[in-house]
Amino acid sequence: MSSIVENLEQVMRQMRLAEQQSNRKPGSVKLLAVSKKHPSSAIREAFSAGQLAFGENYVQEALAKQQEVQDLPLEWHLIGPLQSNKAKEVAQQFDWLHTLDRLKLAEKLSQHRPAEVPPLNVLLQVNISQDPAKAGILPEEITSLAQQVAQLPGLQLRGLMTILALDLSPEQQRADYMKMQQHLTQLQAILPDCDTLSMGMSDDLPQAIAAGSTMVRIGTAIFGTRGI
Ligand SMILES: *Cc1c(COP(=O)(O)O)cnc(C)c1O
Repeated sequence: MSSIVENLEQVMRQMRLAEQQSNRKPGSVKLLAVSKKHPSSAIREAFSAGQLAFGENYVQEALAKQQEVQDLPLEWHLIGPLQSNKAKEVAQQFDWLHTLDRLKLAEKLSQHRPAEVPPLNVLLQVNISQDPAKAGILPEEITSLAQQVAQLPGLQLRGLMTILALDLSPEQQRADYMKMQQHLTQLQAILPDCDTLSMGMSDDLPQAIAAGSTMVRIGTAIFGTRGI
């Protein structure tokens, strides 16, 4: 068995264990395999073990790899920051965007989403640790941006995403993740279709699942350390 296939199985076991320990329904957390800086052969290997959802950070790199595996029925998520000049490509080539943080970008994505495919699933990125080095909106901006994004025909608002500051203790990580869950609950009161909380990476997966994550974004634990 390849190490990618073994790693995937290991991550799935960790996820099921974390679900169990926090009384979450088995299988309620989805795994996004983050394949940035890994070749399309690695994506093919993960697919052979049943993995369908892949996350990429850089639009150009992602488009090149999508070409190489276009024979596979994969679901593509952009999880890196998006500049407006790449909005059209993302609207045409991705299934999900995790880093929506402004209305202008949302309008452009909606405008370029082809009519013959389902709306682009989007998550609002929230800077929950209020870290100046991290992108994302502040918690008090969630409601107003969400209500405006929800009006756009080419987009389907699915929930919230966060990346924590780097230097937090496990207790602080858990506290920030719990805040995210509360923000999702508040959002669901006005937009009941919001069902997704994208949080948790290789190093903090159990804390994220305990706090209600529904989608973990795992790179290193599946594919190993990244090339440059
Ligand atoms: C790279 C990346 C990940 C995966 O991180 P690992 O620590 O390799 O699991 C998850 N989310 C985002 C936004 C990333 O950029």
